[in-house]
Amino acid sequence: LYVDAPLAAGSRVPLNRNQGNYLGNVLRLGTGTNVLVFNGRDGEWRAAISGRKRPEHLEIVAATRKQDHLPDVRYAFAPLKHARLDYMVQKAVEMGASALQPVLTRFTQVGRVNGERMRANVIEAAEQCGILSLAAVEEPVPLDRWLGRRAGERLLVFCDEAALTANPARALEPVRSVAQGIDVLVGPEGGFADDERENLLNQPNILRLSLGPRILRADTAAVAVLALVQTVLGD
Ligand code: SAM
Repeated sequence: LYVDAPLAAGSRVPLNRNQGNYLGNVLRLGTGTNVLVFNGRDGEWRAAISGRKRPEHLEIVAATRKQDHLPDVRYAFAPLKHARLDYMVQKAVEMGASALQPVLTRFTQVGRVNGERMRANVIEAAEQCGILSLAAVEEPVPLDRWLGRRAGERLLVFCDEAALTANPARALEPVRSVAQGIDVLVGPEGGFADDERENLLNQPNILRLSLGPRILRADTAAVAVLALVQTVLGD
């Protein structure tokens, strides 16, 4: 369970209504029961539920896991509409993305991105898959501004369905030796405009990657490329 509070042995963390309801009514956990909690900074802790009739507080008992640190793989993407965006954010977190950067491209179909909703999906995915670090949710920026701000020594993995890559995993070998971190970019359902592709291909440290001969939906491409990157990094 994610709690937005400092965690230390002997400290007491108040539960908000939703958390109390989730523990008491959904998970049907009574007072005295132990749960595992994290706050995204201080590792994982064992805590005991306390309260008069229903869960009201958590009594923090002991640390159970040290804080994990995600590899520096920032996922940049053209935002999708609601449920698809929820799915994409959750999968990117499960695949270990350290940051989520919405980039607004010519054919992006979405005007406004709900950062709060994205952050709630980050927390839900982290709780579900046991990641203790929370991916940063960045403000949406236009593609060219994002490119202009990127640190040039970072590797940019540009997922381009117009590319031809015989062996994507082998093509991703360079991610292993990148010191300054990796940015992974997936475009919108309508794809990148020609001039955007041109601009991307002129970027320093660009790795143009095809994920195979089929056109994938953007959220599928997200899972595919991030799984590949994590696999190569983990080798
Ligand atoms: N331009 C595509 C078309 O012709 O239908 C639509 C873009 S695709 C639905 C959405 C994004 O997913 C693309 O911008 C690209 O980043 C990524 N993508 C989809 N299929 C891919 C593939 N086979 N290889 C690499 N990236 C892919």
